[in-house]
Amino acid sequence: ERNKLKRLRTARTQTLDGEDVQLYANIELPQDIDQVKEVGAAGVGLFRTEFLFMNRDDLPSEDEQFEAYRRVVKTLADKPVTIRTLDVGADKQSRALRTFSQTSGGRTEPNPALGRRAIRYCLAEPQIFLTHLRAILRASQYGKAYILIPMLAHAHEIEQTLEMIALAKQQLRDARIKFDDTIKVGGMIEIPAAAMALGPFLKRLDFLSIGTNDLIQYTLAIDRSDEAVAHLYDPLHPAVLRLVAQTIERGNRAGLPVAVCGEMAGDVNMTRLLLGMGLRKFSLHPAQLLEVRQQVLKSDAAALQVAVTRLLRLDDSARIREQLAKINA
Ligand code: PEP
Ligand code: MG
Repeated sequence: ERNKLKRLRTARTQTLDGEDVQLYANIELPQDIDQVKEVGAAGVGLFRTEFLFMNRDDLPSEDEQFEAYRRVVKTLADKPVTIRTLDVGADKQSRALRTFSQTSGGRTEPNPALGRRAIRYCLAEPQIFLTHLRAILRASQYGKAYILIPMLAHAHEIEQTLEMIALAKQQLRDARIKFDDTIKVGGMIEIPAAAMALGPFLKRLDFLSIGTNDLIQYTLAIDRSDEAVAHLYDPLHPAVLRLVAQTIERGNRAGLPVAVCGEMAGDVNMTRLLLGMGLRKFSLHPAQLLEVRQQVLKSDAAALQVAVTRLLRLDDSARIREQLAKINA
């Protein structure tokens, strides 16, 4: 049993019919990196940076942020670390950011999940965003870092974000501080509008990562943190599945790497469904990695593609569940 587990930690992740699959880890704290190495992840597919901004009254300095990101990037050396820019607001409230905000001063948001969270906040607070970006860019010098932007919906948000990254780079150049000038920039697909109008994402970004937690929330109009409607939060709703499948297919066709980094990627009951949609890159909690790897190792990607294409035509949730149970059997 021990040997079997050890083999799983080092095994190349491949389906029965020889398709390579990459399993990345999601982390929320720099110290999570130990577990990432232990399970033999291909890298970090989602490094949530909110931890630096939570439970405190002041903002982290550029150096404090830089040190935290560098620690992770350096530890993984040649493996990619995908650093997501600040996703505050909604379910991730930060007292410090509200206090220091130039523009929201004491205002209570009528609907935080639909309000100024994530990239919307960052674009509204350019100084905070630039400091954050410079810290990430400086860390990119010490290994292989990628930048991931949350909650994009509009083409002009992509453009504005790329301009801010260019500006942060220029500031570092002016100060003669080194960074990886070729750093890749990706976008999270977690708003239905983004999944349905993918053109600007495919054209302007280097990779995509599907955030199913929010994609489900916004597709079904279910607050992900509200217990009273939790029973309606359904990853298998046909509308959700189609948005996920469409995004994977269009990304693959355009030759852009596509990952899923929401909870769906770590649910072993979803592994075959996602493989059948064409997904080859999963990012999940390190504790779920070995189980998902085991499932990939005993799956046939070509057969799954046929079965899942058929499942995606169904509109009836009960029948979708029935088909999925057969696929997983
Ligand atoms: C998601 O929305 O699926 C996601 C991965 O990001 P978070 O859960 O941090 O919003
Ligand atoms: Mg999200």
